[in-house]
Amino acid sequence: MPSHPAPADATPPIPAALAHLPIVGGLVVPWVTPRTADGRYLLGAVDATKTRTAIHGRLCGVCGTRLGERLVLLLRESDLPRYASTEPALHPHCAAYTIAACPMVAGRRSHYRASAHQIGEDALHGDDLDQRLGAPAEPWHAVWLTRYAVITLHGHPAASYLLIPPLRIRPIGALQRSS
Ligand SMILES: [Zn+2]
Repeated sequence: MPSHPAPADATPPIPAALAHLPIVGGLVVPWVTPRTADGRYLLGAVDATKTRTAIHGRLCGVCGTRLGERLVLLLRESDLPRYASTEPALHPHCAAYTIAACPMVAGRRSHYRASAHQIGEDALHGDDLDQRLGAPAEPWHAVWLTRYAVITLHGHPAASYLLIPPLRIRPIGALQRSS
């Protein structure tokens, strides 16, 4: 199926379900994104308090509302053996928007950025951020679930599917690169 890769600055249409969220550069700022004191959003980082609230309260990390009967975890390949994500689960339509909008998840960016954001006290990066900086980007996977268990992973709450068989696990980057 021949197709052309989307340009790096592609801005997918904003779904009505996300119209309440701030927009930066034509892209929705996920609910879980931290904001600095001077009002900038730290895209790619997550607010620790909102992440905790979302994982425990079964809220979507993109739109901040309750998850339904189907939910999606977006995991890096190297995180799959943990059967868990320290980032909140997403509605299927919010995951679809993220896959279309986020250059890292969609596989359009080949390397992680070389320096971390300056982040505030209540924001956190992934626990292995230092190893990721400047490293080749790895494929992401969409893990479809009906529910998850809340566990603690390296001191952070995480959504686990260790004992919950996923409905399906779909590689994201591979799908887009092979098209
Ligand atoms: Zn959502």
